[in-house]
Amino acid sequence: MNPEEKITEILERLKKGYANPKTALRFSSPFELLVSTVLSAQATDVLVNKVTEKLFKKYKTVKDYADVPLEELQKDVSSINFYKNKAKNIQAAAKTIIEKFSGKVPKAMDELVTLPGVARKTANIILSNAYGINEGIAVDTHVKRLTQRLGLTKNEDPVKIEKDLMEITPKKEWGNISHLLIFHGRKICQAKKPNHKDCVLYDICPSRNI
Ligand code: SF4
Repeated sequence: MNPEEKITEILERLKKGYANPKTALRFSSPFELLVSTVLSAQATDVLVNKVTEKLFKKYKTVKDYADVPLEELQKDVSSINFYKNKAKNIQAAAKTIIEKFSGKVPKAMDELVTLPGVARKTANIILSNAYGINEGIAVDTHVKRLTQRLGLTKNEDPVKIEKDLMEITPKKEWGNISHLLIFHGRKICQAKKPNHKDCVLYDICPSRNI
């Protein structure tokens, strides 16, 4: 099986197990997704959704995030780790969006990555989930681990892993592959205890004996 055939097989099998692959983060606008994604770094989606449920009721517009005293915004997200820095980035991103992008979250990778707290992973999540644009593949810790275990990359750097995946994955699947690998990483191929025996990728995985 060549790498393109292998990724197609992986997608086919994972799609059977995880219907409707999409982010578990709740949002109703591109900026809310940006807020959730920034908050979700090293925090669970469940906790982020719990915090944003109240947050999104209080802050309705990008301007609300820009105008609030920083300490107040920090207090509103204080149950999440690194909340001080995350709130600082959210507010700085809101200000930049108002000043440089007429109050709208940009739809292009090169513009998104100019926002504080937004690197390629977050930009890919926003583009794919809020705008339906596949410009890259979001590589988080699960995607990194699984692509390495499945023999799809030898790289450590997420940007290089993303490039490896983009070369072998059909563009229309760039959004899906990320979600599917994340779901599989959470449920079956966990970091410490991969459940090889219940894995649908067992026979095509070079790491089935780790
Ligand atoms: S066989 Fe094991 S290492 Fe390979 S993807 Fe499945 S759970 Fe992960």
